Amino acid sequence: MKDIGLTKELTTGCYLNPFDNFQPREIVIEERYDETTGVASRILPYRLRLGQKPDTDAYLEKSPESLCPFCPGLFDKLTPKFTPDVVAEGKFKKGEAYLFPNAFPYDATNTVAVFSSRHFIPLDQLTPDAMRDGFAVCRDYFYRIAELQRGYQYCSINWNYMPPSGGGLVHPHLQTIVGRRPTSFVRRLLASAQNYAAASEVGNLWRNILVLEQEAGERFVASTGVIHWLTAFSPKGMAGEIDFYFKEKTSFFDLTDANFAELLEGLSRVFLYLYVNNYMSFNLSLYATMTPEKNFWVQGKIVPRFELNPLGTSDLNYFEKLHDEIICPVVPEQLCKELQAYFQI
Ligand SMILES: [Zn+2]
Repeated sequence: MKDIGLTKELTTGCYLNPFDNFQPREIVIEERYDETTGVASRILPYRLRLGQKPDTDAYLEKSPESLCPFCPGLFDKLTPKFTPDVVAEGKFKKGEAYLFPNAFPYDATNTVAVFSSRHFIPLDQLTPDAMRDGFAVCRDYFYRIAELQRGYQYCSINWNYMPPSGGGLVHPHLQTIVGRRPTSFVRRLLASAQNYAAASEVGNLWRNILVLEQEAGERFVASTGVIHWLTAFSPKGMAGEIDFYFKEKTSFFDLTDANFAELLEGLSRVFLYLYVNNYMSFNLSLYATMTPEKNFWVQGKIVPRFELNPLGTSDLNYFEKLHDEIICPVVPEQLCKELQAYFQI
């Protein structure tokens, strides 16, 4: 089997430690690189632990229901509608969820899906039931977009949960993007898989990653059926990264109701882990193609986000923004062990 390109190098340093009477302290930093994703990171030897539950009340005070465009009072007045050629009613509706154009779009096709009229849902209450309609309405929208035959090839469902992750509103909502071209990161994943297939006779990159990770048992959190859950070798966030892969699913439209139910069950376990460990925020993306692409399996990533007290210091700094390397004081293999317990409940 062709190598999947995970490399690691140790750097050792030493300083005189003020917290230990200026005795010498050796530090070992792991520089990691993942050829598939192109993510370089540095895994630090000291563990990040968030000492207390985040103060979500402060966000709720600044962003009350009475001012929220996604709450029932202002929803009809302040949320955009589609033109009638897309959907006659102006918005897509599924159960309690609505999907409509983003008023401040990142893309010609950027939409927002609100899960329900509930203004704030804490991380531990993001159950499969609480998320079902929101993901289902995104699915309905992608089916309609495919029906319209406008040449879109790539789609994603994305989530900034709470302000530390870039979420502009407390009210939980997803965003979708469809495009004729992949985003820069998806282009990277596609190119990696295509290059891997070209260089290896039996090469499907995703199949081999999952086989090797399952055998290694270091970052393989669980298989819940069709979906395999891993922690990333070289994470995209300071608190690590959790990945999910839909085995052998080569288009968004391969996903069944049961696959979505499995996804939401797994996500709720990850979110419970985050809640228990005092995180308050995350980014999530699910990436897919809209036509079958044998070199790309539907997959996604979750990156926990946080602020550091007492100053509300950001978890992004110059290393990530300007050097394209992630500083990560969470060891991926340790994160995996901790998450495994939540998948055994
Ligand atoms: Zn609201």
